[in-house]
Amino acid sequence: MLKLAFTRDKPTSPHEVAVAFLRRKELLAVLIGVTLAGVPMGAFNLWLNYFIEQQGQDEVAAVARRSVAMVDARVARLVDGLNDLAQRGIDSCRSADIEALREANFAITSIKELSIIDPAGETLCTDLGLPVGDRKVVSSQPLTADAAFAIEVVSLGDGREGMIRIRRVGNGIANALAALAPTELLVPQIIFQGSPLKSDATLTTRNGFLLASNGVGRSNEDESGRFVAAAQSERYQLEALIHLAREQVWAAYRRLHTVGTVVGSAIALAIVGFALALPARRRGDPIAEIERALAAGELVPFFQPVVDIMTGRLRGAEVLIRWRKPDGSLVLPGAFIPLLESSGLIRDVTRALMRRACDEVGAAYSRRPHLKIGFNLAAAHFSDDTIVRDVRDIFESSPIHLNQVVLEVTERQPLENLTLARRIVMALQDLGASFAIDDAGAGHGGLSYMLKLGVDIIKIDKMFIDAIGTDRNSATIIETLIELARNLRMDIVAEGVESFEQVVFLRELGVRAAQGYVFSPPLPAKSFLQLVEAIDPSQASDQPTAAAA
Ligand code: C2E
Ligand code: CA
Ligand code: CA
Repeated sequence: MLKLAFTRDKPTSPHEVAVAFLRRKELLAVLIGVTLAGVPMGAFNLWLNYFIEQQGQDEVAAVARRSVAMVDARVARLVDGLNDLAQRGIDSCRSADIEALREANFAITSIKELSIIDPAGETLCTDLGLPVGDRKVVSSQPLTADAAFAIEVVSLGDGREGMIRIRRVGNGIANALAALAPTELLVPQIIFQGSPLKSDATLTTRNGFLLASNGVGRSNEDESGRFVAAAQSERYQLEALIHLAREQVWAAYRRLHTVGTVVGSAIALAIVGFALALPARRRGDPIAEIERALAAGELVPFFQPVVDIMTGRLRGAEVLIRWRKPDGSLVLPGAFIPLLESSGLIRDVTRALMRRACDEVGAAYSRRPHLKIGFNLAAAHFSDDTIVRDVRDIFESSPIHLNQVVLEVTERQPLENLTLARRIVMALQDLGASFAIDDAGAGHGGLSYMLKLGVDIIKIDKMFIDAIGTDRNSATIIETLIELARNLRMDIVAEGVESFEQVVFLRELGVRAAQGYVFSPPLPAKSFLQLVEAIDPSQASDQPTAAAA
């Protein structure tokens, strides 16, 4: 009886390379995290810049509107005053009229003088009763849409004093009334965030005539350094144009910017922390963990011998997957195969397992063309023909020949598309591979269904072998399966054979092939190869002995 203790292989260098590669990947994740952390910070700053720009623009527009409203109110007082005087018939330089002008000036306040102007535009007299002196009208523009009032720039004396004059335009026959006011009266006062600031405020007529300007900051500063807004008066043909220095707006929001930097940094720190934690988190994610194990070469094939119980010769082996952890412990497939199947990773894993089996036992197999090697397939392998291409690509040019390959499909898992599965089975058989129904009899009546696949081998499930000698029904089922296999010209293999009595029983029923602990557990490649050499010496070393015999 063959009994071999399994030995553990040392980690191979490709494995170490793969682990190193994974470490690099983790490092990359951290680097990407750090880089990504700059994004929210940048985005926040961009948003803040946009916000401040928007605030500046809104602010300057509001200043323009406020300025125009103020000018409107002041001009309205003058216009109302002039209308009032006109209604009272004040239009001459008689002392009663001058007296009325003086009272009006006192009531209106903030004007320099009220005057009577003749149809030719000459100032006849003022409320001050002083000689009129030199005055020149620099410009005259309509103040109201109906041109009943004009707004004028007037220079007094030697032209050094600029004044604004609101004139009630007469009918061209009678004298008219006018109010003279200092330019400053109509210059918009700019208050921003509670303090005066570096800015330009200009009052023009709607058609662009300059009436007044504060002159502050009217430097050759280019427009990009300033916010600009204009607002038009609703009542008069006036327009205020405001320029606000950008630096002032930014200064007002400096505190906000500090807050922004703090918040942005906090977000960045959180992301860096997350990136650092990511590899650790992935370690807790079973799928990521298996992917890592696959990349690190921790998923390895074990080989369980299949023995001819008539002759004692080796017929081959079934490949059974093991997860060999870096600490040397072995994980059995029951613990991770369901996850591989549900995640779809089973395809990658099967491919890797086939390649690795070729590497590890290929040489021994190429010298023993009669040996078979079985691989377990999952239901997922029958959803498209990828497996056909995989098997062809892997074994076409491998030391293991395609006709040494056996593919096992379990009766426990129903196949969704039997027609497609049948096509896949046929395509693989055409390549030279054979097919086995695994766990036959255990699939609750699925056997007849599975037989439609047109397989070559039936593997009797362990539970029937276990029942040998105790359960009469089990013997009947085994006999039925053997009969079925014979009729369909299929091979039969007994699984999970653990005792000598079972071997005898199976032999008597005519079963030729068996696998189970009674012969050997699944073995790592190295032990399996020692076993192969021991019970099936290769042709090369066999030759002289054979010749001598
Ligand atoms: P299975 O294909 O029916 O494989 C036979 C199972 O029975 C193996 O369990 C084997 O170690 C165990 N076994 C063999 N002889 C005896 C025995 O005498 N007594 C007892 N008690 N057990 C015996 P293992 O290796 O744990 O695999 C369990 C199942 O995991 C396999 O059942 C198969 O369905 C699945 N599996 C293993 N490797 C792969 C793989 O590479 N791909 C897929 N899709 N499934 C796999
Ligand atoms: Ca199997
Ligand atoms: Ca089985």
